[in-house]
Amino acid sequence: MSEKTTTLPCPICKKPVALTDENVPFCSDRCRTIDLGKWASGEYRISSPILDPDVLEDLESGRIPRAEDDD
Ligand SMILES: [Zn+2]
Repeated sequence: MSEKTTTLPCPICKKPVALTDENVPFCSDRCRTIDLGKWASGEYRISSPILDPDVLEDLESGRIPRAEDDD
């Protein structure tokens, strides 16, 4: 039986981060700080924390879910 550690890509540097990591979803405290800076500068427009791997896949493939008014 192979033991697979579930990981998420660090939102900043894309490095795989184990869900057991103390800094998850970031690979390090440094990336966490960078992310906070992005939130503060309004670079991110998504209002909820991205912790769902499926959502991360969507983001990486450019399919960002949006609630657009299509009239
Ligand atoms: Zn990182």
